[in-house]
Amino acid sequence: MPQTSNRTKDFGESIIRKMSRISNQYGSINLSQGFPDFDPPQELQDALSSAATQGPHQYAITWGAKNFRDALAQKIERSTGLEVDPEKNLVVTCGSTEAMMASMLSVVNPGDKVVVFSPFYENYGADAILSGAEPIYVPLTPPSFSFDRAELRSAFEQSPKALILCNPSNPTGKVFTLDELNYIASLAEEFDVWIITDEVYEHIIYEPYKHISFASLPNMAERTITCNSLSKTYSITGWRLGYVFGDKKVIDSVKKVHDFLTVGAAAPLQEAAVVGLKMPDSYYKELQNVYTKKRDVFTSYLDKIDLKYTKPQGAYYVLVDISEFNADDDNRFCEWLCKEVGVAAVPGSSFFREPINHLIRFHYAKQEETLHAAGERLLKLREIWRERGY
Ligand code: GLN
Repeated sequence: MPQTSNRTKDFGESIIRKMSRISNQYGSINLSQGFPDFDPPQELQDALSSAATQGPHQYAITWGAKNFRDALAQKIERSTGLEVDPEKNLVVTCGSTEAMMASMLSVVNPGDKVVVFSPFYENYGADAILSGAEPIYVPLTPPSFSFDRAELRSAFEQSPKALILCNPSNPTGKVFTLDELNYIASLAEEFDVWIITDEVYEHIIYEPYKHISFASLPNMAERTITCNSLSKTYSITGWRLGYVFGDKKVIDSVKKVHDFLTVGAAAPLQEAAVVGLKMPDSYYKELQNVYTKKRDVFTSYLDKIDLKYTKPQGAYYVLVDISEFNADDDNRFCEWLCKEVGVAAVPGSSFFREPINHLIRFHYAKQEETLHAAGERLLKLREIWRERGY
């Protein structure tokens, strides 16, 4: 039989999706794959019903329906202060997963180096493989997850083509400071490097932290390719609506890649999501309040159990230290946790390049009652470990 391609041989199964599968198998509370167990705003659901009867049902313009891009450009301007021409600077994609892949394929040649902070969201590894890029990993060191400036500089000295920045960060919950971002910007300029950002958690951020869109830094608009999505902001992860914005020259390229990858994002869903993009500022404030409450509810259980964790500044993930459970194999520990305690988490090692396996990631994009139920189960963690630990 002919062989499958070399590039796919390097892929493993997504650990995040694997943990969702294992969670379903044991019927545990799934705090592994990050997605809400609550509905999107009613306005979006109503708009989706109208789209079902009134359309559109055929292809939208490949880089996004005009009314969706117009609303999106205005929303981006409101959130970031950046001026975005919906004809020149914007491409609508199938989730930010495609946004990131299309961006990488647009700027990276096989063999080019790409700087990636570790830990990183697992798709970036696959993006690098598919685009033929060679990642240079720069550690974000726990528990504060800051980077060493000399280490980052030495990564830039290896002539990378691009750097991938996830801010607020999945899985660490870190929000990069203005100082850190300015330092990255200065290196990008000095070494002439693209910055590809993943800003899907821009609105899930906790006081006093502030999200700074990388493209809004001085001189960065031209070299920043911003990937984002509506998934987290409007609780519609299954709608697969993402986007890329940036300078016209690079966006022309992303448009072409996107066209041949997927043709376009779902037309009726773009139509329905316009109402989300027009939500008033109070919607985003409320989203922030709701997630702050969720973070506080979930971490209050971690405090009660006296588990060590890094308090999230943004996004909806928390990395928890499991060293005391002698778990040098976090994969095994997460399976055990699903089976014996009934709560699913993601083994931290799937995010780190370094051999780190004393951390596991929980997400808390869940109804408060789900978080309480998971917390109650976790309260028994030590007792169960003593009885039935491996
Ligand atoms: N971004 C989410 C996470 O990190 C969902 C990942 C996925 O399965 N697409 O859990």
